[in-house]
Amino acid sequence: MVAGLCRSLRDGVLDRCVDVFPCLADPARRSNLVLRAALVVLHLIYAGILFLFDDDLIEKTKKEPWYTALYLLLWIATLVQYFLTAGSSPGYVIDAMRAVNQRNVTYRKAPLASKQPASSKNGSLLVAVEGGSGTNSQGSNATSWAKLVMDMYPPGTSVRNFTCSYCHVEQPPRTKHCHDCDRCVLQFDHHCVWIGTCIGQGNHCRFWWYICEETALGLWTAIFYVTYLQANITRAWWKDVIMIVLLIFLSILIIFLLLLLLFHSYLVLTNQTTYELVRRRRISYLRGVPERVYPFSKGVCRNLYNFCCFRTNIYTFEPLPTPLELEEKLRPYTFLDVLKCRCC
Ligand SMILES: [Zn+2]
Ligand SMILES: [Zn+2]
Repeated sequence: MVAGLCRSLRDGVLDRCVDVFPCLADPARRSNLVLRAALVVLHLIYAGILFLFDDDLIEKTKKEPWYTALYLLLWIATLVQYFLTAGSSPGYVIDAMRAVNQRNVTYRKAPLASKQPASSKNGSLLVAVEGGSGTNSQGSNATSWAKLVMDMYPPGTSVRNFTCSYCHVEQPPRTKHCHDCDRCVLQFDHHCVWIGTCIGQGNHCRFWWYICEETALGLWTAIFYVTYLQANITRAWWKDVIMIVLLIFLSILIIFLLLLLLFHSYLVLTNQTTYELVRRRRISYLRGVPERVYPFSKGVCRNLYNFCCFRTNIYTFEPLPTPLELEEKLRPYTFLDVLKCRCC
């Protein structure tokens, strides 16, 4: 009976909330909002308890306000970065297709093509989306997108092999359909439950910066907690218990974040995605590629440059490497390669 009452009360509150905020009617959006609120609350708890319990920190802040100000700045920057990442587009294929078809677009080979080995014929294809509405008819639109995608696959590849069975759009290489977002994502990395969106070409850089800031904030907070617990002053025992429990939970989070940061840094340096690394043997375009070859890598420096200087109004499409290019990548390094900056 009590359970029934609670359920009807919960349903009543939920209905009321949906009336006031219609966006809450969608369960996926609702869970995203709950997660985001939980993240903000978690940050507030860690910083709030610190300032509430630690009198030394208050005293130190009065003497050296810049130290606490820097910490609070990082705290705010981390939350801002989280919301920026959550609100950014991961690079949906449907948007890229519209951009290509309905707007004035310019195509050009990425400058990296000139840095590729002599045998290399392909490079990234940058599609810069400019303002203004398109004049193309729908028929020619579909053709232009299909042709653009087809050119990125080896000749003779059937269109059916790279057409999404859910969205019915032609997928450029490195694209995957996300069942949570119900859309195809360019350079799909993973669907992040914590962020509430996919991580792909459009927001991978923001995501990396978010985990970097979150790790730094976690470490700095842990230092504050340890300093508090080590201070030789009399205080209530329950304050110590709360601080120790929070510190243990924070330590687990920091280890997880550090590993995640290292993992994503490795992906960035080798121009891979989590999906490609985990499902390497199942992905058709990676079948037959030797284990130690990163087929889309352009060298550490160029990979870093492309990752950091990614612009949201430009879509980058990477054609599949030819067998000759893969062979070139497999060739062991020589002293001459180092001199020629083969990796760069
Ligand atoms: Zn799809
Ligand atoms: Zn997704």
